[in-house]
Amino acid sequence: MKYPEYVAKIISRFEAKGESAFIVGGSLRDMLLGIEPHDYDVATSALPQKTLELFSDKRVIETGIKHGTVTVIWDGAPVEITTFRVDGGYTDSRHPDSVSFTSDITADLSRRDFTVNAMAYNQSVGLVDAFGGREDIKNGLIRAVGEPSRRFGEDALRIMRAFRFAAQLGFEIEEKTLVGARECAEGLVNIARERIASELLRLITSPYPKRSLELMRDNGILPYLFGDYELSERVIGGIENMTRSEAARLGFVLSEAQPETAKKIISSLRLSNKLATGALAVARGAGFKVSNAEDARRLIANTGVYAEDAARASEILGVSPRGAVEITARQKNTPCSVRDLQINGKDLAALGFSGKSIGETLNALLERVIITPEINQKEALLDIAKERL
Ligand code: ATP
Ligand code: MG
Repeated sequence: MKYPEYVAKIISRFEAKGESAFIVGGSLRDMLLGIEPHDYDVATSALPQKTLELFSDKRVIETGIKHGTVTVIWDGAPVEITTFRVDGGYTDSRHPDSVSFTSDITADLSRRDFTVNAMAYNQSVGLVDAFGGREDIKNGLIRAVGEPSRRFGEDALRIMRAFRFAAQLGFEIEEKTLVGARECAEGLVNIARERIASELLRLITSPYPKRSLELMRDNGILPYLFGDYELSERVIGGIENMTRSEAARLGFVLSEAQPETAKKIISSLRLSNKLATGALAVARGAGFKVSNAEDARRLIANTGVYAEDAARASEILGVSPRGAVEITARQKNTPCSVRDLQINGKDLAALGFSGKSIGETLNALLERVIITPEINQKEALLDIAKERL
């Protein structure tokens, strides 16, 4: 197994000073899977202060120095370097009460969440795999390190991570790990909603969310995400056919909820406004039946740039016939919003409209244009407006 030259140089620098250093975590997992890691995490026996000194010729960011993490920028590539550590007790099921540093790589690996994430590797020692991570990668299994219910009890976010990794990698969750997740699910109420939302979004936008959502449903995890709203077989079964963006997939997941329920769930997840708006548009539009161009324009008028995602959702759910996405795509450049009309509020004011009736008239004109796009011409629209005066 080969890691890049700059990572080798970082590891050698530690070794030259009598310290050990390894690649760990997701980067090693990805290497074993034959996937190019997006970045490299290094763990070392050196204390943070020593790491700072060793790399004083480089740009170093004190990312989480209290927890032993510094980021070294080597020729533009950031490498997170963390001192081997063990976590103290957990009293609130999310933050360890203390962390202490250790010189034992195996102790460091034992605090990690899953066997596939709890290996270490460097070119001089080779693979350190005390928990059977390589075997679990081979068999496609997410398995907690140690006693699952204790590990999930310490930090319930690990429950979400288990299902997220399973969805990303297409892995199964080992039976005892699944039982532990079920037993500790209530701990999810202690986890910040933002962190839950972030794991949920990574899960649903991954290549294999279907199986994870099924397992989460069958093991009582989903109520901690969606309250009383239950995901149907159609939604779970269809999600992998849905566009792979956050707004599209989250909107699809919520497409069978009552509008009020969908809004409540979205606001409970503390998402950005943009994502919240997009997901709600897709969820709303998924209920539109698109069988012809006029339907498509109506959908675009209602959901804007999310119309094609919404059409796809409605196609997957069987609300719209096949072809709805294409029909919608073809209407993209036709007038579908008040802004596209060949007249505006000023024109109406000149005719004698005022106040609320301006907006109402523009909407009425848009309705006519959605039915017959050809009438979107100034004279024709002014004539229709005059009739309404
Ligand atoms: P990715 O970056 O693709 O999400 P990753 O495995 O690198 O995957 P990170 O969140 O970056 O995940 O964490 C790096 C490593 O730290 C993990 O591989 C795992 O060993 C450990 N880790 C992270 N979060 C936890 C946690 N909540 N409990 C225990 N160990 C954790
Ligand atoms: Mg990572």
